[in-house]
Amino acid sequence: MKNYITLLKENDLKATIQRTSILKSIDHAGHINVDEIYEEVKKQYPTLSLATIYKNIILMQHNGVIIEVPINGKKSKYELKKDEHMHLICQKCGEIQDQEINPQTKETLIIENFQLKSSQINLYGLCNKCQNS
Ligand SMILES: [Zn+2]
Ligand SMILES: [Zn+2]
Repeated sequence: MKNYITLLKENDLKATIQRTSILKSIDHAGHINVDEIYEEVKKQYPTLSLATIYKNIILMQHNGVIIEVPINGKKSKYELKKDEHMHLICQKCGEIQDQEINPQTKETLIIENFQLKSSQINLYGLCNKCQNS
């Protein structure tokens, strides 16, 4: 298994089986919503409840292990915390693509008299597949 245990410990969380299996399914999918996580985790741990998964997701989000990506009119997806990047979010199928932030865009984030701690740039539109259907 990848270093999910280290990742959790680095962020002051105990490494439980629930948490590592949630992280594994997020890592696999890239971006995934809570229902999809539940489906994945259930295969291995059928007794785990959706409520437990929710609770752990909220906690791991709070401690900076995972990040919530809001999608208009649909359930949020989650991803492992990575280097800063933008999201191209398809409003039709909900697919999320990671996109590098170019230096010009980065510059627009520097605002006078405002100390930026974190940012998330989400662009909403239609993915290539949905444009052609
Ligand atoms: Zn799409
Ligand atoms: Zn992402």
